[in-house]
Amino acid sequence: MEQNGILPGRTEGKATIRVRSLEPHSAEFTSEQIGTIADIAERYGSGQVHVSARQTIEIADIERSAIKEVFVLLNGNGLYAGSSGHFMRNVMACSRWCLYNVFPLSDLARKLNNLYAEQKLPGKTDISLSGCGFSCTRSRTSDIGIIAQATIEVNADKCTECTLCVREPLGCQVEAITLSDHSVSVDGDRCIQCGYCTNVCKFSSLVLKGTSFAIFIGGSGGITPKEGLIWKSVASEQDVVDEIAGLLKCYSSVAQKGERIGSVIERLGLDSLTEVNHG
Ligand code: SF4
Ligand code: SF4
Ligand code: SF4
Repeated sequence: MEQNGILPGRTEGKATIRVRSLEPHSAEFTSEQIGTIADIAERYGSGQVHVSARQTIEIADIERSAIKEVFVLLNGNGLYAGSSGHFMRNVMACSRWCLYNVFPLSDLARKLNNLYAEQKLPGKTDISLSGCGFSCTRSRTSDIGIIAQATIEVNADKCTECTLCVREPLGCQVEAITLSDHSVSVDGDRCIQCGYCTNVCKFSSLVLKGTSFAIFIGGSGGITPKEGLIWKSVASEQDVVDEIAGLLKCYSSVAQKGERIGSVIERLGLDSLTEVNHG
């Protein structure tokens, strides 16, 4: 039987355990949790760990006979094996400390990981959360990708041409802002809605008007990379949680074994994943 987070080792009789923290959440291990992982790696493994691309920690070379003991140590410290096979993969989020966050999505990652850590799905399913349009966690090439967005208001007449929003080190990273004739304008095609310029501008010329979440679905990486399609834009974290719940329900009812969300969309169309069609 498939066991969540236990991968066959490269050596006969050994396994790799993929570990995630559900509290605070993977990618934010506490120092105590890191100590536990180091202790397990030293006592039961090779003394080394690997940080996976999906923000889990893999402890390799564990004797299969020691797995139960290892689990007791992990679980006593808020750590769990998971994120493998057809179980929901670890929900990734970018760093809550990044200056470009429209707002940090770490707490949303914790919520989703706790909701879905043990959920089995028809095919590989990953959720990636990005705090802004730079999409460092590859939200656009995930089965479900969330990107926080800022809507900015431009009050051109208030611009003093201080130039802070256009030059290093605080200036717009995608060169969407133009200053001219004592005025400022933002190129909507270039702007990735990170909202950073509204922190930089001290003259209320660039102001944060609102925030939202763009939801992309059907993306994938790997040998057949695919860009996700924009699914919806919603206002709150709770909306994101509700939309994902509905989407996973539909996906589970229509997908064939092993079929990822992007393949369902190709076979049945985007509407097949809409709740209204599933009651
Ligand atoms: S996606 Fe944006 S907020 Fe997240 S790490 Fe990258 S730059 Fe920072
Ligand atoms: S114009 Fe402002 S919100 Fe748009 S990308 Fe540049 S810094 Fe971000
Ligand atoms: S930071 Fe504000 S005031 Fe300064 S140039 Fe940019 S828009 Fe104008």
